[in-house]
Amino acid sequence: MRLASLLAATAFLGIAAARTGPNPPNRLTGFSAAGERVERDWEAKFKAMPSPDSQRSYMRHLTARPHHVGSPYDSANAQWILAHFKSWGLDAHIERFEVLFPTPRDRLVELVAPTRFKASLAEPTVPGDPTSAQHAEQLPTYNAYSIDGDVTAPLVYVNYGLPSDYDELARHGVSAKGAIVIARYGNSWRGVKPMVAAEHGAVGCIIYSDPADDGYGQGDTYPKGPYRPKEGVQRGSVMEMQLYPGDPLTPGVGATHDAKRLARADAPTITKIPVLPISYGDAQPLLAALGGPVAPEPWRGGLGITYHMGAGPARVHLVVTSNWDIKPVYDVIATIRGSTEPDEWVVRGNHEDAWVNGAEDPTAGQVAMMEEARALGTLLAQGWHPRRTIIYAAWDGEEPMLLGSTEWVEEHADELRQKAVAYLNSDTNDRGYLFAGGTPSLARFVSDVAKDVEDPETHLSVWKRRMLADIGNARSDDARKRARDTGVLRVGPLGSGSDYSGFVDHLGIASLNIGFGGESNGGGVYHSVYDDFYWYTHFSDTSFVYGRALSQMGGLSVMRLADAQVLPYDFVNLASTVQGYVTELQELLQSEQDETAERNREIQEGVFAATSDPWHPTIAPPVESLPPHLGFAALQNGADSLTRSADRYAKTFAALEADTAYAAGEPAVNALLVQAARRLTDKRGLPGRPWYTFELEAPGFYTGYGAKTMPAVREAIEQRKFPLAQQQIETVGSVLGAEAALIDSAATMLGHTPR
Ligand SMILES: [Zn+2]
Repeated sequence: MRLASLLAATAFLGIAAARTGPNPPNRLTGFSAAGERVERDWEAKFKAMPSPDSQRSYMRHLTARPHHVGSPYDSANAQWILAHFKSWGLDAHIERFEVLFPTPRDRLVELVAPTRFKASLAEPTVPGDPTSAQHAEQLPTYNAYSIDGDVTAPLVYVNYGLPSDYDELARHGVSAKGAIVIARYGNSWRGVKPMVAAEHGAVGCIIYSDPADDGYGQGDTYPKGPYRPKEGVQRGSVMEMQLYPGDPLTPGVGATHDAKRLARADAPTITKIPVLPISYGDAQPLLAALGGPVAPEPWRGGLGITYHMGAGPARVHLVVTSNWDIKPVYDVIATIRGSTEPDEWVVRGNHEDAWVNGAEDPTAGQVAMMEEARALGTLLAQGWHPRRTIIYAAWDGEEPMLLGSTEWVEEHADELRQKAVAYLNSDTNDRGYLFAGGTPSLARFVSDVAKDVEDPETHLSVWKRRMLADIGNARSDDARKRARDTGVLRVGPLGSGSDYSGFVDHLGIASLNIGFGGESNGGGVYHSVYDDFYWYTHFSDTSFVYGRALSQMGGLSVMRLADAQVLPYDFVNLASTVQGYVTELQELLQSEQDETAERNREIQEGVFAATSDPWHPTIAPPVESLPPHLGFAALQNGADSLTRSADRYAKTFAALEADTAYAAGEPAVNALLVQAARRLTDKRGLPGRPWYTFELEAPGFYTGYGAKTMPAVREAIEQRKFPLAQQQIETVGSVLGAEAALIDSAATMLGHTPR
């Protein structure tokens, strides 16, 4: 390292922190000056290519008929996408897996006392919306991977069905034991609701969309407006993916034809009690028939009734049975082989299967990705040679629970562990603001890409538009200042909910999930028959200009990751994010201690005995023991070494970028850097769920899609398993130490690179 370079590096970092404006002359991270000029030329050509009109025509074709897993049109769409990839000059094939995918056989929800009512469980045709009439091909409304069952029991209303809701019920003397519970959608991933219900002894679970959250409480309903109509139902998987997603019968291995399979009765991710989703039209008579305590204010939804908790006098008969068939999934995989570092892979994916016609989810994302693939095919024909290998994947079977991507990741795990640079996902797409979730080491990278993509409405960069919104929405002056000063978008942890899960959660591959939303109302027809071409072209990104912006975000990200001379990971952001997680864990323990003390005080002072309803007095819970102090030194030491290594790496990296003599690329350093995210895994996995090996985040056991950061420690504290928490602090601390050592080696290599 030369002194001149170091000074240049310091100056460069100063400039980097102050970058602002819609069209900043960014230095491209990981490129020499000469490399950047070449890259910028190809990028300019690329950006002009994605076409909104093409996206509209692909969507019209792909959504013409229902295309769920195992349907004829799902397979036809895979063949159609394959033919397009090939016609664009990509080396493409279909990879087939065989997975357990239940479809409905019998479905019944009826009120048998005190009055009778039978739920319609049907989504009627909407006049003017042609595909809403395709009843013969539509998958009926259901929750996939519900166990079969036929139960009759008193009904209990459980609000969102979270553990804290059952605490509230207990305080009112209401138990879910032996009952059928009715929970509203929202505030957690849907599969958490039947899982928690079963833990509390319920025998069945009904999930409905309350109009306050999802319907006329939000705005005009379809077809007058975009929101969920009275009969609209949210389908969806209730598989217990907190254990593992993908085929329930082949955990950890690809579900190939000859794979060794569990017996269905032994598959732990199928629900323990039968569960079925219903509309608010069907839910109203059930909820109106409930007695018992009046539900507390936060539990009341938008139906014109007084919400009661039960139990009873409403009694419900619930029947759910499925055809438990093995069905094929067809992943369409297209490869562009890298010219100089072919054993480093950049993977880009979006699913193509839908619950029904699926315009917003997932076709809006799929057609944007297809336009990227077409444009990259054109660049190849014009002489572009990406350094690294690029893989485009149109996943099948995402909706039932990430079947296509998970099986592919499991089948290719060894190769991916060795070669994967990053995985870039998209799924739904609407109109409005860029959102990006992902691994902290890619936050600055995706922010820089966003500075080079124009927002179709404001003509600012999509980065600037999102930044202005964050400043406007900031809750405090401090948060506003942070939003204004940073050049980096808020890139939250991923958790689960789309096809990145196998990549990041199972293998520890740096991942990003991107899309646009926030202006149109994409949730209003989510997972119903009304998420179709008519709805999308009337209420969402009607001119497909945000589809083009998504193609530009996705394509530029892929090109930069594939072409960079040094991989553009930002370990400074990784380290500061990790420091934040460690602080949060200490605060979490402190607040658990404070809250327990406060609760015990209230119990001892008899606060819980007071109630506004003398007929239904609340019942005090027992006093709990206080959480002990834990030693966080291992985590703090790990995080501090990470911070030191990251700073050292950043200085070396900036010096290299400022060095005009550097031009060639750094294959040896890249080979090491590829392993950086993998080093954040522990191959034993998280406590009780070995499929999840990434120590920075995982879907929460009781929140589902919502991510828990440093989950091994966090969930042990939340679940009051304090000896386990202490043990996991040591484990995660040593994982951080190993990551710091890798980054340190990379810095040393980079500093000694001959020029
Ligand atoms: Zn989707």
